[in-house]
Amino acid sequence: MALDSHIRQIIKKSGYIEVDVMMREVLSSRPLSYYRHLANIGMKGDFVTAPEISQLFGEIIGVWCIEQWQRLGSPRKINLVELGPGQGTMLRDILRIARLRPQFYEALTIELVEINPNFIKLQKQQLSPLGIEIKWLTQIHDIASLPSIIIANEFFDSLPIKQYIKIKDHWQELVFVVEPIDAQIKFDKISINRELQNQLLHDHPYAFDGAILEESPQSLEIIRAICEHLNKISGVHLIIDYGYYVPPWQRTRYQYNPTLQAIKNHQYHPLLSTLGEADLSAHVDFYALKKTAHERGRFAIGPITQREFLIQNGILLRSKLLQQKLSAKEALLVEKQTNYLLEEQKMGTLFKVLCIT
Ligand code: SAH
Repeated sequence: MALDSHIRQIIKKSGYIEVDVMMREVLSSRPLSYYRHLANIGMKGDFVTAPEISQLFGEIIGVWCIEQWQRLGSPRKINLVELGPGQGTMLRDILRIARLRPQFYEALTIELVEINPNFIKLQKQQLSPLGIEIKWLTQIHDIASLPSIIIANEFFDSLPIKQYIKIKDHWQELVFVVEPIDAQIKFDKISINRELQNQLLHDHPYAFDGAILEESPQSLEIIRAICEHLNKISGVHLIIDYGYYVPPWQRTRYQYNPTLQAIKNHQYHPLLSTLGEADLSAHVDFYALKKTAHERGRFAIGPITQREFLIQNGILLRSKLLQQKLSAKEALLVEKQTNYLLEEQKMGTLFKVLCIT
């Protein structure tokens, strides 16, 4: 059944569908969901990610991974886990660097958490020439009981969010309903339980009338599972994503806006007219991720901007060394790609990096 009719059927049955349930149906839970049949990321796809822009991105993450392995005491076995590896490009670039440190490379086992059969095929193509053993999982809870380096680039922004709106001193949850007159899917509101009401009023004392708040319970559940793994065994988790870091009591009027968006062919689309064909994403609330890690007894560093992270880990030097080996034309391209990753007010600062250790 097409996704649009499936969503309408849920609404017909229950009267409405919550934003996170709609996102889950549209993005991942059905064979026709966007992330189950998306075929490529890049200029030919709907959106481009940092590893697809420059090999330097994955290579710098590779340098970071080696350093983390050493910090963990250079264990004889280390599990490198990637959440949502897309086309496998970042991992391929990480492994290019990993080979420079044979002891690290030999210690590696790899697990990839992925739900998209097209991407799994691409990941196999990219990575099988390396002869390294890789295991595919559909959820983080199944990772091996080994010290782990867990990385996620542009993964959390694709997870479902809930939306709440504050009206006359009360929070309500936003949902979708079908308008009886013209059969269009549109936003509506439902009331929330008292406990959540009190929590939101307490956590967001300065939210104004009309404020919209987004929360991603699934993201927090994944963070809790990772923290449990780090608590029980050992390791580190690196999150790179488009997002914001503002404690609730410091939020201004402009930080209570919805960020849920649909992107197809590099263009924004109306949220409800492209169900299952466009990528839905929301900005990541890094404050909530970090708070959850703290609640689970972990230490979290950052977030810092992608620009700071890449520069601190040596991207400028690596870029220069790479350029020296290339023709003038190729070198110029590498320089441009490096600048793209680092650009202020764009990728360099809108993307943030958080490390849970
Ligand atoms: N990290 C890659 C791809 C980012 S797109 C890059 O930077 O290029 C998001 C990735 O997460 C895709 O691989 C998608 O298939 C995967 N994904 C989305 N939802 C998922 C879920 N619920 N569980 C596992 N993987 C998921």
